[in-house]
Amino acid sequence: MSNSRKVVIIGSGPAGCTAAIYSARAGLEPLMFAGVMMGGQLMTTTDVENFPGFPEAVAGPELMDRMRRQCERLGVSIVQELVSRVGLSRRPFRLETTEGKTASAEALIVATGAEARWLGLESEHRLKGHGVSACATCDGFFFKGKEVCVVGGSDSALEEALFLARFAAKVTVVHRRDRLRASKAMQDKARGQPKLAWVWDSVVLEVLGTDSVAGLRVKNVKTGEARDLACQGLFVAVGHVPNTGFLAGQLKLDENGYIVTDGRCRASVEGVFAAGDVMDPHYRQAVTSAGNGCIAALEAERFLSSHE
Ligand code: NDP
Repeated sequence: MSNSRKVVIIGSGPAGCTAAIYSARAGLEPLMFAGVMMGGQLMTTTDVENFPGFPEAVAGPELMDRMRRQCERLGVSIVQELVSRVGLSRRPFRLETTEGKTASAEALIVATGAEARWLGLESEHRLKGHGVSACATCDGFFFKGKEVCVVGGSDSALEEALFLARFAAKVTVVHRRDRLRASKAMQDKARGQPKLAWVWDSVVLEVLGTDSVAGLRVKNVKTGEARDLACQGLFVAVGHVPNTGFLAGQLKLDENGYIVTDGRCRASVEGVFAAGDVMDPHYRQAVTSAGNGCIAALEAERFLSSHE
C-alpha cells in the first residue's frame, strides 16, 4: 500500500468517515489514519436519537461500525495508528505516526475531534480510575446502587447524569452557576428523573478519599461556604479540549486550541482542511461533524483539481 496520497484524513469519527466517503467516491483513493480506536467519541456513547435515518435510535458504536464498513466498501485505506507529527510547510504534506509509519498528502483533512476536559485538581488526577471518570457509559455500571456526583451544567453533564441514574441510587449534579447551559429538551428530561439531586453555585475543591472516592468537598461561590457531599463516584463533564497538540503550531488555532477555519472548512495553510469537533466548539453533534466532513472533502477535491 502506497502512503503517498492525494488525500489523507486524520481521524475516524463522523467527520473523518464522511470526508473519507466523499473523497473515495470522488476517486481520490484516500488514506485514513483512524487513531488507536476507530470511531471517535461516539464509541463511548449510548443511544443516538438525533442522527437522521434511525427512527428507533442507534447505539454510538453501531453507528460508527456502519460508517467504517461504508468506508471500507468504498475502498478507503484505513490505518489504525495515531498521527504524532505533521510537516505542513510545503506540499506534499508529511505525516508520521507514533509507530513510525510515514505518509504524504497533497491535501490533508484534520478530523481529530476533542477529548474530555478535567477540573485540574490533584485529588481528581490521583483517583482517576478509582471512582473518578469522564465517561459514564464506560464506567457507570460499576456504581450500581451507589451515590455519584456529576460536575457540569451542559448537555454532556445531564446526559451522563441520566445514564448514571439507570444504575446509581442517587446522582447529584454539581454546577458552578444557578442555571443550566443544557438544551431545554435535556433539562426537561433531567428534571423529570427523581434520582437526580442538584447542588447549585458550587465548585469542587477536592475529591475526598485515599484509595477510592469517598466524597466531594464543594464550595458555594455565592456564600463562600464549603461542605462535603457523600459519594463513591465522580463524573467530570465540564466540556472538551480539541486534539490539536500534534500540529505543533503549524496551523492557526483559536485561544482554546480549536483549528481556525474560514467557513468552508479551509484551515490557515492552503491544502489543509478541518472538520468536526477539532474546529467546532459550538455544536459538537455527529450530524454537524458529518456535514463538515463532507464540506472538507468537497473543498479538498476542488483544491486538488485547481492545482493539477
Ligand atoms: P460545554 O462546554 O457546553 O459545557 C461545559 C459545562 O461544564 C458548562 O456547564 C460549564 O459551566 C461547565 N464547566 C466548564 N469548566 C468548568 C470548571 N472548571 N468547573 C466547573 N464547571 C465547569 O460542554 P459539553 O461537552 O457539555 O457540550 C458541548 C456541546 O455539545 C454543546 O453545544 C452541547 O449542546 C453539545 N452536546 C449535545 C448533546 C445532545 O444533544 N445529545 C450531548 C452532549 C453535548 P458554565 O455553564 O457555567 O459555563
